[in-house]
Amino acid sequence: MTAIEAPPLATGLQPEPLLVELSRPGAPTHVLPPLDVPEVDNFGGQLLRSELRLPEVGELDTLRHFTHLAQRNFSIDAVFYPLGSCTMKYNPRVNEDVARLPGIAHIHPLQPDETVQGALAIMFELQQLLAAITGFSTATLQPAAGAQGELAGMLMMRAYHLDRGDTRRVRVLVPDSAHGTNPATAAMCGFQSVPIRSDPNGNVDLDHLRSELDDTVVGLMLTNPSTLGLFEQHLLEVTDAIHQAGGLVYGDGANLNAILGVVKPADVGFDCLHINVHKTFSTPHGSGGPGAGPVAVNSLLEPFLPVPVVVKDTDGIYRLDFDRPKSIGRLKGFQGHFGILARGLTYIRMHGAEGLRSIAETAVLNANYLRAVLSDVYEVAYDRTCMHEFVLSGRRQKAETGVRTLDIAKRLLDFGIHPPTIYFPLIVDESIMVEPTESESRATLDHFAAVMRQIARECHDSPDVIHDAPHYQVVGRLDEVTAARKPVLRWQLDG
Ligand SMILES: *Cc1c(COP(=O)(O)O)cnc(C)c1O
Repeated sequence: MTAIEAPPLATGLQPEPLLVELSRPGAPTHVLPPLDVPEVDNFGGQLLRSELRLPEVGELDTLRHFTHLAQRNFSIDAVFYPLGSCTMKYNPRVNEDVARLPGIAHIHPLQPDETVQGALAIMFELQQLLAAITGFSTATLQPAAGAQGELAGMLMMRAYHLDRGDTRRVRVLVPDSAHGTNPATAAMCGFQSVPIRSDPNGNVDLDHLRSELDDTVVGLMLTNPSTLGLFEQHLLEVTDAIHQAGGLVYGDGANLNAILGVVKPADVGFDCLHINVHKTFSTPHGSGGPGAGPVAVNSLLEPFLPVPVVVKDTDGIYRLDFDRPKSIGRLKGFQGHFGILARGLTYIRMHGAEGLRSIAETAVLNANYLRAVLSDVYEVAYDRTCMHEFVLSGRRQKAETGVRTLDIAKRLLDFGIHPPTIYFPLIVDESIMVEPTESESRATLDHFAAVMRQIARECHDSPDVIHDAPHYQVVGRLDEVTAARKPVLRWQLDG
């Protein structure tokens, strides 16, 4: 196979504009017309900070500066982005067109219900479609992200137990293949999170699960498919065992992309489930939002839904219902991230039932294809049919050449590919978690596989090239710990 050459820069841009100081003292930066009204000083000078040394840059150069910065981002619009667990799929532009319709973009969250019937209809329909897709009775759209959806779900589970006078339940079982937000959520609700081991096939260890069950168990938080990209093979036994002990089953449905139209979580023992609209239903995300993490619930949890809930009265009029005495209360200002919800509904309606199912089928096919073509060069953590993602391990490369997973990830940047998620899940040594999504073409998958194979060869033939990567980006290896702990977020004239 011929070697693939790394492009000099992913964006084809030269670094100079970033490295030189653009500000010039006295540069013509703005021109205000002469004052033609009497001069007044409403602020008494208190709000004017003369010590600020603002950059003196013209409008066009300012624009170019920010455009150049933006083009240095690795984004799904620019490059292949197989970031496991994050579902970086194509964000169809029709979603954006809909979200920008004046009737959607220009309404105010405090408008009276009768003036925003269309917006309430959008929310009502989405509640119903999400319930239909997951098999539950209804859903709340309020949570701002997956993690807040988890909080909503667990608060509802707590309210359910307390409402029945069951006050002893304080322990939440969380398999070690769960997303990291699951134990964090349990802790935020004041519960104790109890880790449950995975068995050698990547399933929940049933014996360990059963040994932890008693009348102090709130329930189980199950990420399914798990962060190993695997569908729990004993799902019904797991959910039955929890119910036998009087607990409830929380489903982390952020990986719903893999089972859309194929499995309804309500049919396999879940009592509620959060959905990541910004993953499964294609709205843009990254760097923390905005997203939407609706939670679908069964009839046991319905009384505890956050307020308000969108309802449709018998006369066909929509309204926000606050009159719900057992509600856990409000979780977020206004009605959730409405613009994201409108995008999500567009995507669901555009695909229809058949289309949603084919999304899952293609996502699973793409992941299994890559898993198969890479399995002779990288160790596959759990070598069985995967769902929408799979986990490789850089164990072999580390043992044979000293090259680590971090080095492999950095080398991918040289080829204009966003690295997969690395060192997560924690239960796989040197893990590399790949989620190609259904959006990508066979040609892109083959290119990625060829690059990954070449990097595996480089680990043996020229490990130094990998240790020092990336070579062709604006910056090389960054000190990520210092960048996170002591970020420089302010523009400073003197560097
Ligand atoms: C992304 C993700 C979450 C958290 O969702 P956010 O919207 O980032 O808060 C939870 N669980 C799983 C499995 C995820 O992939």
